[in-house]
Amino acid sequence: MSPHLVDFPQSPAMESLDVGRVLADEPLARHCSWRIGGPADLLIEPADGDQVANFMRFAREKSTPLLVIGQGTNLLFDDAGVRGIVLKIGERMSRIDICGNTIVAEGGAWVPQIARQAAKTGLAGLEHTIGIPGTIGGLVMMNGGSHRKGIGDNVRRVWIVDRDGHERVLTREECRFSYRHSALQGSGAVVIRVELQCPRGDRRQICRAMVDDLRERRRKFPRKEPNCGSVFLSTAEMHATVGPPGKVIEEAGLKGIRFGGAEVSRRHANFIVNRGGATSRDVLALIAHIRRVVREKIGFDLRCEVRYVSPRGELMPADRAPGAAERS
Ligand SMILES: Cc1cc2nc3c(=O)[nH]c(=O)nc-3n(C[C@H](O)[C@H](O)[C@H](O)COP(=O)(O)OP(=O)(O)OC[C@H]3O[C@@H](n4cnc5c(N)ncnc54)[C@H](O)[C@@H]3O)c2cc1C
Repeated sequence: MSPHLVDFPQSPAMESLDVGRVLADEPLARHCSWRIGGPADLLIEPADGDQVANFMRFAREKSTPLLVIGQGTNLLFDDAGVRGIVLKIGERMSRIDICGNTIVAEGGAWVPQIARQAAKTGLAGLEHTIGIPGTIGGLVMMNGGSHRKGIGDNVRRVWIVDRDGHERVLTREECRFSYRHSALQGSGAVVIRVELQCPRGDRRQICRAMVDDLRERRRKFPRKEPNCGSVFLSTAEMHATVGPPGKVIEEAGLKGIRFGGAEVSRRHANFIVNRGGATSRDVLALIAHIRRVVREKIGFDLRCEVRYVSPRGELMPADRAPGAAERS
């Protein structure tokens, strides 16, 4: 355990602190969809906003390195894990309430579950999120979505706990959503609750759109091997000039190429799958290789949507990780 954590949670001050479930030396591979990553010194799973606030105040006082995660479906953890504390907003904070046109979901609520409940109630606008396997906190943070939409379109308010442990409510305008970006990124804020506003729609049409989306995903995306969704960003500019990343990578002849346990999916070239025993080094080396070959053959600089988590708990686009940068 790293020196700054030796008195956690054994110190008398910590024992009385109500922060939720605390797991020591917890393998991060269990908390991400790639199934890659060494242990976190501590992983904490709070059950409500008060526990998040208690923890944030403690972390601030002790200057403890801290990383917030949801279900880890957009993250590549390092093989060395994280020397610090990982705060997971997951199943223990996943309540969903619907009243009229308003959905209020805790930060750890499962996005497809929110979409399904919206459909059942005849609320439209979330059809594009039915196949996104993460938490609403993570989706809001990334302004994620599909079919060129973002969840920000439906956000009305976001409850956060800031770095100092204060709960605040942000409006959609304050979140400043743009393509796969929000002002929350890099702010140190923890999303504990989200209010979504959805117009009424035709239930059958909403359900049909969701079924179509899921069918399309099953057809196009890898089904069984652990993965992290799209590895590279697809921007409007890229679409207009060279096409989507999957097509570009395929045209560069990289489909099926393998480094260690990491392989460019044979089903969809913008996915890297874990064929068993893949390490973060394998994935970063493969990312660097793809970027270099695409740059040479197609003349385009691919950027990563997936975030790498360093052993110090720092987050960065995976193409900026030391292992990926050195080789590119
Ligand atoms: C098969 C597959 C398909 C996918 N398809 C899509 C898609 O169509 N569109 C799309 O946008 N994404 C897609 N993704 C990526 C991913 O599911 C989304 O980005 C998702 O929103 C991430 O949620 P998460 O809970 O897993 O967040 P994580 O991956 O755990 O974290 C992502 C980011 O959000 C932050 N974060 C997470 N929760 C919180 C919180 N409560 N408070 C503050 N910060 C937080 C983390 O620090 C990190 O910066 C896909 C992934 C997979 C595996």
